Amino acid sequence: ASRFPCMPSTPSAKTWTSSTRGWSNSFNFKGKTALVTGGTSGIGLGIAQALRAAGARVYAAGLKGDNPAAMEGLHVVALDVTHANDVKAVFKQLDSLDILVNAAGIIRRAEEHDPVVFERVLAVNLNGTMRCCTAAKSLLAQSASGGCVVNIASMLSFFGSGVSLGYSASKGGVAQLTKSLAIAWAGQRTRVNAVAPGYIATPLTQALQNNPAMNNTILARTPMGRWGTPQDVAGPVLFLCSDTAGFVTGAILPVDGGYLVA
Ligand code: NAD
Repeated sequence: ASRFPCMPSTPSAKTWTSSTRGWSNSFNFKGKTALVTGGTSGIGLGIAQALRAAGARVYAAGLKGDNPAAMEGLHVVALDVTHANDVKAVFKQLDSLDILVNAAGIIRRAEEHDPVVFERVLAVNLNGTMRCCTAAKSLLAQSASGGCVVNIASMLSFFGSGVSLGYSASKGGVAQLTKSLAIAWAGQRTRVNAVAPGYIATPLTQALQNNPAMNNTILARTPMGRWGTPQDVAGPVLFLCSDTAGFVTGAILPVDGGYLVA
């Protein structure tokens, strides 16, 4: 029996042949629709802006947009990924979807030793990701390109953390969910990948950036010796969403200035 019962027994070349649009158009997302959760701040906003600049119609879903000017050209959607009915309703309103990026996330650091806070972090970072993937599944299956999902994992998908127990557990879960959905959805031609950012300068890491001792420790531990930017993460995400990555699924791509290998 096949290890992959979801796959057609003889995948046809036609089904799997990547686009013939040519290399020069590989990062042109004109005609594609994307939804980015957490698209109203930090990494998600950077990804939403990059997809928009590359021609996609982009829905940026989040709790609130801190900077309305940054949202220009984006369709802003108020969405809490922990509310199952709201998630269903948002995806139901879309007439098509080619790209889903799950960037909604929270961290509560030492407070995560409290099981209630632990559960909340899992509810947003892991269950929220699964909830959006499930709600997007049939739309993605109807995408002409097969559809793709990019989840935002973390260095803490690989390392443990004695402080951020819930965050680390959630991001380990996001990595495993990414691999599992990649297998489960290969039969519907939907690719599922993740990027694992290192330390990126966003509101989520503001407290670390402001703490001189922490800041120095982070820079000393990062071979490239600087904080990453949301744009640093957006490039690899666009690659994973592009036809260039047409045979890439189940990958967790570190975007960390070398942190993981040092
Ligand atoms: P951020 O705080 O700037 O943005 C978080 C976004 O998530 C916001 O748009 C917010 O509205 C949204 N959000 C929070 N709770 C939500 C909920 N319940 N429902 C819907 N949206 C919700 O943080 P960021 O640094 O841009 O983080 C984005 C993602 O990247 C997160 O998953 C985070 O874990 C991950 N990440 C960040 C770093 C980093 O160094 N900044 C590193 C690795 C991974």
